[in-house]
Amino acid sequence: SPPNPRRRISIFGATGSIGRNTLDIMNHLGGREAFEVPAITGMGNIELLAAQARQTGAGFAVTADPDRYDDLKSALAGSGVEAGAGPSALIEAGARDTDLLIAGIVGIAGLAPTLAAAANGADIALANKECLVSAGDLFTAAIARGGGKLLPVDSEHNAIFQVLEEHQRHAVERIILTASGGPFRDFTREQMAAVTPEIAAAHPNWSMGIKISIDSASMFNKALEMIEARHLFGMRPEQIEVIVHPQSIIHSMVGYSDGSVLAQLGAPDMRHAIGYAIAHPRRASLPVERLDFAKLARLDFIAPDEVRFPALALARTAMQRGGLQGAVLNGAKEAALEAFIAGRTGFLDIAEIVASVMDRLDDGRHALSIDDVYAADQDARRAATELMRKSA
Ligand code: NAD
Ligand code: MG
Repeated sequence: SPPNPRRRISIFGATGSIGRNTLDIMNHLGGREAFEVPAITGMGNIELLAAQARQTGAGFAVTADPDRYDDLKSALAGSGVEAGAGPSALIEAGARDTDLLIAGIVGIAGLAPTLAAAANGADIALANKECLVSAGDLFTAAIARGGGKLLPVDSEHNAIFQVLEEHQRHAVERIILTASGGPFRDFTREQMAAVTPEIAAAHPNWSMGIKISIDSASMFNKALEMIEARHLFGMRPEQIEVIVHPQSIIHSMVGYSDGSVLAQLGAPDMRHAIGYAIAHPRRASLPVERLDFAKLARLDFIAPDEVRFPALALARTAMQRGGLQGAVLNGAKEAALEAFIAGRTGFLDIAEIVASVMDRLDDGRHALSIDDVYAADQDARRAATELMRKSA
């Protein structure tokens, strides 16, 4: 009999934390014998992107930076891998036929290329939470139109996906997102006011990209995840709870109408959620640490402090207001976060800027198209930048 055709997996953001973990798992599950890589993307790290493209025998490698085309082209010389650069090449990469797309670009920049893949019918393994936070229903509708599956890779949503069966959806009372609490869980506001980007990026349990690590420290990551959960699982805002669980062993929970709570547990290792999405609907054997409960001994739970972490209340406000407030929250947050990383604003200012921008741009408008989402994102960034200039 002919050999099984190789499964096609495209990887967006291959050079990042999600991307590198994805390649690790693909190697573990058979490498080039098992997988074909129609498209792979990165941005500034051309050397790594080219090495990944050669190693996987990718069809098309794209850097998001339009000025790096020549660098990528020469790094790929003789490999047979086609090179591309810039936003339109990213969209072209999304439109290349594939069975599964790993959406691992960070930020709103991931939206257009991921939508291109969704429109082409690919299954989407979604790490890029900003797609759902900013474009919400438009994004899920685009996937439904394309006919592919949406498989959450964010560990909390992956956990919920694992314990929420379709035939029991009617009985879901609440979703309980766990949060590690980040490096500042026990800091006072005074201590938080003085932190640097380096300290904020050092996450106690998970090893991730710099932006999501700092978002974890401010709990904006959890805020984005609340909105993400709303769209992924069709929840009302009041059905979404957050509990601080410092060990990050329970990845999230679903509470049912009969009082049962189902949880998914595992070591804090993104390769689990990525491997789960790749193997779905089966389960693969994955090289992740097994839990030793006797060694763990205890799991702790603490109510989140919304005074020190205003991001959670902002997420609830954004969900209640609806419309484009998710895109506004995310756009303002990205601008403030970039300013914090550059040393131009303080850690506690991030939430204050987001709150002001959300109020200022609360005009009840709804997104009729993706262009409206991009416009709201740009408006929010501009408003945030203006606020920061005024207070400087
Ligand atoms: P990262 O910074 O490590 O990697 C980001 C990737 O996106 C890199 O390949 C980078 O080259 C690319 N990129 C950056 N800016 C880009 C742009 N403007 N256009 C196109 N490509 C660009 O980030 P990460 O930690 O891997 O996170 C990726 C996404 O997954 C984020 O949305 C994050 O919230 C989500 N996520 C990550 C983790 C994790 O463990 N790292 C967990 C859950 C969810
Ligand atoms: Mg998460």
